[in-house]
Amino acid sequence: MRDLLFHLPSGAVDRRNRPQVAGALPGAVVTLEIRVLQHLVPPRGRDRIPYRVICEDETGEITLVYFNARQTYLEQILPVGEIRFVSGRLDEFRGEKQIVHPDYAVDAAAFAELPPVEAIYPLTKGVSNRQIAKALAEALKSAADLPEWLDPALLAQRNWPSFEPALEAVHHPETPAAITPESAPFERLAYDEALANQLAILLIGRYVRRRRGKARTAAGRLSEAIEAALPYTLTKAQREALSEIRADIASPERMLRLLQGDVGSGKTVVALLAIAAVVEAGGQGALMAPTEILARQHYEGLQPVAKRVGLRLALLLGRGRGGGRQETLNAIENGEADIVIGTHALFQEGIQFKDLGLAVVDEQHRFGVHQRLALAGKADGPGADVLVMSATPIPRTLQLTFFGDMDVSSLKEKPPGRKPIETRAVSLERLDELMEGIRRRIAAGDQIYWVCPLIEESELSDGTPAEVRFAHLKSVFGDRVALLHGRMRADEKDGVTAAFKAGEIPLLVATTVIEVGVDVPNAAIIVIENAERFGLAQLHQLRGRVGRGEKASSCILLYKPPLGETAAARLGILRETEDGFRIAEEDLRLRGAGEMLGTRQSGTPLFRIVRLEAHQHLLEVARKDAEKILTDDPFLESERGQALRNLLYLFSRDEAMQLLTAG
Ligand code: ADP
Ligand code: MG
Repeated sequence: MRDLLFHLPSGAVDRRNRPQVAGALPGAVVTLEIRVLQHLVPPRGRDRIPYRVICEDETGEITLVYFNARQTYLEQILPVGEIRFVSGRLDEFRGEKQIVHPDYAVDAAAFAELPPVEAIYPLTKGVSNRQIAKALAEALKSAADLPEWLDPALLAQRNWPSFEPALEAVHHPETPAAITPESAPFERLAYDEALANQLAILLIGRYVRRRRGKARTAAGRLSEAIEAALPYTLTKAQREALSEIRADIASPERMLRLLQGDVGSGKTVVALLAIAAVVEAGGQGALMAPTEILARQHYEGLQPVAKRVGLRLALLLGRGRGGGRQETLNAIENGEADIVIGTHALFQEGIQFKDLGLAVVDEQHRFGVHQRLALAGKADGPGADVLVMSATPIPRTLQLTFFGDMDVSSLKEKPPGRKPIETRAVSLERLDELMEGIRRRIAAGDQIYWVCPLIEESELSDGTPAEVRFAHLKSVFGDRVALLHGRMRADEKDGVTAAFKAGEIPLLVATTVIEVGVDVPNAAIIVIENAERFGLAQLHQLRGRVGRGEKASSCILLYKPPLGETAAARLGILRETEDGFRIAEEDLRLRGAGEMLGTRQSGTPLFRIVRLEAHQHLLEVARKDAEKILTDDPFLESERGQALRNLLYLFSRDEAMQLLTAG
C-alpha cells in the first residue's frame, strides 16, 4: 500500500485541451475527436515496424502508432469508420502528425465517464493506469484516518494541506498544475519524506554513536614504517585527514566519519594508515570494497607495503572462490589477520573478528545513508569505528541528506605530478579515424580502455553493447583485445583484469564494471562509447581510470549524433574541467541528486517524492525540524511522536523505528 501511495503521477492528461487535428501543437497532450480510416498492419515477423492506424477529422489526418500491438485488439477498440476520442502526446514525425501509444482511445459514451483531468503514472511493466487508479482508491481510504504529524504552524505558514488531502490532490488532480513539484500538495508530501529521512538519519546516527567505541592509542611506529615504505610522500590533504581520523580513533567516542575525495585523490593509503593505528593498538581493521575486482586490487596493491612492515593481510572471498576460506575465517577470529579485505556483501554475512577496531567502507557512490549505516552496523562488532570513503564529491548543501550525522574529512588536493587528461568529444561517424588512432597507440605500446554502456543487445536501447564492440575490435586487433563485464564468471573477470594490469592486453572492452576504482597506471587512454548516455558524475568516474601514471592521458567521448542539449552540456563541462566538486555541482543542476549519486541505477532511490531540483530548500527545514522533535521527545512517545511513528512507517524507515527502542 505504501508503495502505491507514493507512486506519484508523472504527468496528467488534461482532456479539456480539445483542439482539432490541424490546430494541435506537437509536444502537447491533446484529446482529439477523430474518425478511424484505415489500419496499416506491419508485415509478419517484422517486429520493429509499428502498427499504424490512420484517422482524421475535418481539418486533417493523424496516425496512431503502436509497437508490438495485437491486431485483433486494435481492430476492436478502433473500428474503421467509427468516431473515437483519443488522448495522448502529439508528435510530428517526417511531417506527419501522430500519437504514439495513446493513453486512451474510447467511444463517446466511455469518454463522457472520464474525469476531465487525470493522473498518468510511470508504468511498471504489465500494470495499467486503470489498475493503478483502482488499487489506489483503496489505499487512499486507509490513509484517511492518520493523525497529523506536521507542526500546525508550519502547515499554516506554507499553506499546505493535510496528508490525505495532499495525496488526493496529486492522484486526482483538478488541473495539471496540481501535480507539479512546486504545488502545495506535492511540496507537503516531499516535506513528509524529507522529514522521515532526517528523523531516520538522526535515529540511526544516535544508535550507532551510543555504542561507545574503544579509545585506542598508538605511538605511530607502524604508520611511520608504512610511510617510509611508500614510494611517495603524503600530500598535505592526506596528512590532515589522517590526523582527524587518528584523533577519532584515540577517543572513546565512536568514530563515524566520511572521507571524501575525488577519484585519484589517494584515499586508499589514508585508510591503510588509519587501520595501522588501530592494529598498532592491538585491534583489527576491515576494508570493504564494492566489488570483488576491487577487493583483490586493494589486497594486491597493499600487500607489498604490508609485507615490508609485517602487517598481516587477509583476502576474504566468497564461498567456492579459491581454497583456504575456512583458514582465513579462523585467522580473522583468532587475531592472526590484522587487516581483512573483502566485498560489502561478504561482510554483510557477519564475520567473527577477534577485536575489530575500524571498519572502512570503500563505497564509491553506490549507497544511501541507511544502507551505509546498516552495513557498518553489521560489520562492526561492539562499537568499531567506521570510516566511509566516497569518491563522489557532495555539494555542501546535500551533505546532511546523504551522510547525515557523519563527520567529514575531505581530500581536496590531488597527489602532485598528475598530468591533465586531454578530453575530446568525437562523433561515431568518425569511428574509422578513431580506430586508426587506436592502432597507432597500440603499436606504440599504450593501453586503452573502451567502455560501452551495455553488455548485450537490447530492444530498449540502441547504444552499442560491449559484446558487439568487442567482436568488432577483435576482428581488427585479434587477441590483443579482451572483454570484461559484470556477468562474466568471477574467475574469468579476475583473469582478464590481471592480464590487463600486467600489460599483456593492450585493449580492454568493458562495461562500467571498471567505473569503480580500478587502478592501472599504465592505461592512459579511455574511450567512452555512447558517452551521451552516461551521467556527468559517471563520466567523471570513468575518466578517472586514466591520468594515473607518467604518461599524458586522454579521454575520448564517443557519441552518437545528433547530440541532445543536455548531453552536449555534459560533454562540454567534462572537456572544460577535471574538478570533481565543480562537476558535481553542474551535475546536480542538470539532473538532480538521486541520479548524481548513482543510486537510481542501483535501484535504491534515496527519495521517491522529493525532487532535489525543486525541493532542496525543504531539506534544511526538515533537518532542523527533526532535531527539535528528537530533542523534545527522544523516543517519539508524545501524541505527535506517535503520529511521527506512522510517518516513519509510511516511508519505510522501519529500521529507524526499531532503533528507537533498541540499544
Ligand atoms: P582513490 O582516492 O581514487 O581511491 P587511490 O587511493 O586509488 O585513489 O590513489 C590513486 C593513485 O595515487 C594510486 O596509484 C596511489 O598509489 C597514488 N597516490 C596516493 N597518494 C599519493 C601521494 N601522496 N603521492 C603520489 N601518489 C599517490
Ligand atoms: Mg579508491
